[in-house]
Amino acid sequence: MTIMKSEILSRSTEEKVLPVILADIEQAAARIAGGVACTPLVRSSTLSERTGQPVHLKLETCQPIGAFKLRGAMNAILSLGDAERKRGLVTASTGNHGRAVAYAARELSVPATICMSSLVPANKVEAVRTLGAEIRLVGISQDDAQEEVERLIESRGLIPIPPFDDANVVAGQGTIGLEIVESLPELTTVLVPLSGGGLAGGIAVAVKALKPEIRVIGISMERGAAMHAALAAGKPVAVREEETLADSLGGGIGLANHVTFTLCRDLLDDIVLLTEDEIAEGIRHAAREENITVEGAGAVGIAAILANKVELSGPTAIIISGGNIDPALHQKIVSRAAP
Ligand SMILES: *Cc1c(COP(=O)(O)O)cnc(C)c1O
Repeated sequence: MTIMKSEILSRSTEEKVLPVILADIEQAAARIAGGVACTPLVRSSTLSERTGQPVHLKLETCQPIGAFKLRGAMNAILSLGDAERKRGLVTASTGNHGRAVAYAARELSVPATICMSSLVPANKVEAVRTLGAEIRLVGISQDDAQEEVERLIESRGLIPIPPFDDANVVAGQGTIGLEIVESLPELTTVLVPLSGGGLAGGIAVAVKALKPEIRVIGISMERGAAMHAALAAGKPVAVREEETLADSLGGGIGLANHVTFTLCRDLLDDIVLLTEDEIAEGIRHAAREENITVEGAGAVGIAAILANKVELSGPTAIIISGGNIDPALHQKIVSRAAP
C-alpha cells in the first residue's frame, strides 16, 4: 500500500505526468548493473575545437552487442517474474534489438525466439542465431514477422519484448542519462539518435529530472523520420520506410504508441534531420578522427555538429548509439574522399 501511494504521489507531483520517471530509471540501473557495460565517456578534441565547447562521446559501441539496446532488453527481462521467464521471450527485430534480446536471454538462461522475414540477409540471421536464440523465418516483410510474434504470444504464451514502446525498455535506455550526468555534472546539451524514441525519451527523463535546464536534442534522418512526423501531426502517423545509411533509425513508432510519443512530445527540446551525405560524413569523421567504427544511426550526433545543424551552449554529450555496420559498406564510406 505505502509503495503504491508514494509511487502515485511521485508520478503526479512531476510537472507533467510521465509514463517513466527518474525512480524507474534508478531501479533499472541497479537491476542491470553487472549485466551491461557502464560505457566510457570520452572527450573529442576535434569536435571540442570545432565548436568551442567541450564535446564528449558516450560510447555505447562498447556494449557486448555493440549497441545500447542491451540496457532496455536486460531491464525488461529482469523485470519479469519466474513464471513469465519460463514461458520464453519473443520479438521481431533483425537488428540491434534482436541481438540484445538474444544476448540478454542467453545470459539470463531464458529461451528466446526471434521472428524474421525470409528476405533478411543471411549474415543478419546468423548474427542472432549464434547468440543462441531460436530463429523463425516467416513471410516476406517485417509486418509478416510481427504477425508471427502475435501468433506465438497467442498460441505458446511467449512474452513479447518490444524494441522501444515499453516502460521497462525506456527505463533501461535512460540509465545512459544517469551515467552521463554523474561523470559530467556541468552537462548542458545531449545529442541523441532518434527513432522510436526509447533512447531519447529515457535519457530525457533522467537528465531533466536531475537538472531540468539540460537540453535534449533528437536527431533522425530526413528519409522516414517517424517520430518527427508524429510530433508534427500531434499523433502517431504512418511513415513510408525508405532506405537510409541510418538503418537502425528506420521503422514507425507504432500507431498505438503509448509511452515514447508522450515522452518525446513533452521532453525533447528540438529535432534535427540529416541528409544521407551528412550521415556519411559523421561515419567518416568517427573513423578518421575519433578512431571508432560507428554505424549510421550512431553517427548522427557527430554529423549534426559537422553540418552546423545544432548550436551548443556548453559541455555536450553525443550518444554514439551503436557500431554494427556492414564492414564493406563502412570501408566504402570511409575511403571515399570527403565532399
Ligand atoms: C534502436 C537504435 C536507435 C534508436 O533508438 P530508439 O529507442 O528506437 O529511438 C539508435 N541507434 C541505434 C544504433 C539503434 O540500434
